[in-house]
Amino acid sequence: MPNKLLLQVAENKKLEAIATRNRFTRPIVDRYVAGRGVDEAWTATKALNKAGIDVSLDLLGESVHDLEQSKQATKEYQGAIENIRNRAPGSTVSVKLSQLGIMIDPQECANNLKALLNAAATNEATVEVDMEHSSVGRDTLAIFKSILPDHPTTRVAIQANMRQTPEDLLSFTDIKPRIRLVKGAFDETSAAALNSAEEVTEQYKYLARWALEHLPDPAFGTHDDKCIDVIKKRAAELGLGKQDFEFQMLYGVRRKLQDELVREGYRVRVYLPYGTQWYPYLMRRMAEKPANLLLFLRSLIGG
Ligand SMILES: Cc1cc2nc3c(=O)[nH]c(=O)nc-3n(C[C@H](O)[C@H](O)[C@H](O)COP(=O)(O)OP(=O)(O)OC[C@H]3O[C@@H](n4cnc5c(N)ncnc54)[C@H](O)[C@@H]3O)c2cc1C
Repeated sequence: MPNKLLLQVAENKKLEAIATRNRFTRPIVDRYVAGRGVDEAWTATKALNKAGIDVSLDLLGESVHDLEQSKQATKEYQGAIENIRNRAPGSTVSVKLSQLGIMIDPQECANNLKALLNAAATNEATVEVDMEHSSVGRDTLAIFKSILPDHPTTRVAIQANMRQTPEDLLSFTDIKPRIRLVKGAFDETSAAALNSAEEVTEQYKYLARWALEHLPDPAFGTHDDKCIDVIKKRAAELGLGKQDFEFQMLYGVRRKLQDELVREGYRVRVYLPYGTQWYPYLMRRMAEKPANLLLFLRSLIGG
């Protein structure tokens, strides 16, 4: 389970300011973040594409404080989408609706998302909607459902740890969604989410099997061998081809496993974050692997 304390630290603005200014954090940031600007992101993309791996570009930044910031993020994403066809066909972009303004004005956020979806349609690209904390989860799902009829290939992340998830999945009656199944990375109450790592992993396996049986082109965002084995086995039992679904992993995590899956013939996509606002993202990565925390704390003090 992600470390709860670290997930709370991820929200701390004072620590964010200290960590972001500290040049000693650079090596650990560089492991998880592909670059400060989009050009570095394209360079990292090129290297992954060469290894047979697709990417999903994520412009770092979440919970914007005014609509101007959300407009700016939308513009930057549009620029990235317009370059996909020339620079790395097959790439997608992953967006957080908090970055597009969902906490300020859900309608404006939906308009920003539609602008990205229209740009994606013109440029043969796909948009993936990340799932964030449950405080914005309901609105995120509602906006996703509202755009689905016009943009049915859009993908949405679905969190296995959330108690509401099975019901949410069954609520798609007309159009079956393309999902990215993840365990869930946010600090949630036990009323909203499953409590233990074991429970979450079992639920992930159950939902992964279900997704392979019922949903089009599912993606599985996990680095967990146990989950990956279940997915491979169930897909084979169902007679699915290795290209009929996708494994997704985070930039900087289990790179060798990514290559192994490609060699075995599976589709692999790496979620590739770039930008300067790396702090909350990086702290969630620290929370998933607390052994990393020591490295991060040492880097803060220049050790
Ligand atoms: C492509 C992708 C997109 C995602 N999108 C979302 C999203 O939209 N919303 C959301 O809530 N969550 C998202 N997540 C995060 C996810 O919810 C989990 O927190 C994260 O993937 C860790 O779970 P795991 O399935 O890899 O299993 P775990 O049991 O956490 O990890 C399995 C193994 O993977 C390795 N590992 C995992 N995490 C790390 C790390 N940070 N550093 C180093 N090694 C690590 C370790 O070897 C670990 O033993 C995403 C994850 C991926 C891969």
